[in-house]
Amino acid sequence: MGRKFFVGGNWKCNGTSDEIKKIISTLNAGQVPSQDVVEVVVSPPFVFLPLVKNELRPDFHVAAQNCWVKKGGAFTGEVSAEMLVNLSIPWVILGHSERRALLGESNEFVGDKVAYALSQGLKVIACVGETLEQRESGSTMDVVAAQTKAIADLVKDWTNVVIAYEPVWAIGTGKVATPAQAQEVHAELRKWLQANVSAEVAASTRIIYGGSVSGANCKELAGQPDVDGFLVGGASLKPEFIDIIKAAE
Ligand code: PEP
Repeated sequence: MGRKFFVGGNWKCNGTSDEIKKIISTLNAGQVPSQDVVEVVVSPPFVFLPLVKNELRPDFHVAAQNCWVKKGGAFTGEVSAEMLVNLSIPWVILGHSERRALLGESNEFVGDKVAYALSQGLKVIACVGETLEQRESGSTMDVVAAQTKAIADLVKDWTNVVIAYEPVWAIGTGKVATPAQAQEVHAELRKWLQANVSAEVAASTRIIYGGSVSGANCKELAGQPDVDGFLVGGASLKPEFIDIIKAAE
């Protein structure tokens, strides 16, 4: 199947330039498996993207945390996909649950963003995941399928898409999904892709897990057959991120 392990670091809205430089030094000094084994992508806030791109080791790549839904123009405060391409930023995170919840990004809006970003040549980490209430009411798969369908309705070529399954109740809470819980949703998502997109896309698309991943819990999660890597928030700001990258081994 050949799904290369993928580790993303979402730095969210954190850091001063000094703090960012310290994180870069730690990453640059880290001993990690080769690019043949693991793909590493870190996502600093927009304003630090050029700094990180210039100073980060070349085997690690960068992602923006968002981009505008269509061509740039009169959209105050937004950053367009074309601008990211212009700066040679290869990746973008779209549909993070914080943006869905706090900024009201709907499934359709996220689907439109994913399609537009891909059309401009960006690679996309597309986030999906249920709230605690949705999990407790038994609708996890319905929620995740609807979020994925809004993307699948517009996207034909999945080569440049990584799906991040991030249960909202696990993000920033210290309450990580158990390996069995993560595996169950990842396997269901893969089945959904098989039934609704194609067997080839289901087999080749990386589905990574996010939500309170740490150096302590990453190895067991990485051992699950349908967990193809991680999207890491809090721990990606710490030296522990190197240990998480090593979970690829
Ligand atoms: C995230 O924000 O994508 C995330 C997974 O955060 P954390 O690892 O801090 O739970």
